[in-house]
Amino acid sequence: MEQETSYDDKLWFNHKGCDGKHFLIGNPHTFHGRMWAWCPVKQRSFFVSKDEILESSEQTKYWVKGFLSGNQPSPPKNENQDVDYTSDEYKLWKENIREFEQSGIWDIEQGM
Ligand SMILES: [Zn+2]
Repeated sequence: MEQETSYDDKLWFNHKGCDGKHFLIGNPHTFHGRMWAWCPVKQRSFFVSKDEILESSEQTKYWVKGFLSGNQPSPPKNENQDVDYTSDEYKLWKENIREFEQSGIWDIEQGM
């Protein structure tokens, strides 16, 4: 059968809760940190966060790192539309960014 979705076989990872290699495809434009991937077992694409990725190729590790870096929400701005680096909002944002880099999940409740 013909492959509907094309993927790069270097961008493999093992997905929590499913067998075998899965492959990153791109950006699904859903939530910050969500990535688009392909499951050969189910023959369908799905969304995945960094914390659902178990083992992966070296290429995948760097792909995810770059993706999450570019996918970070912007820092909060004050009433003058400037980033206030001393504000509590900014400090909270920094903490969320650190967490985001680890898990790939943006805390929407706390995030601004
Ligand atoms: Zn799967």
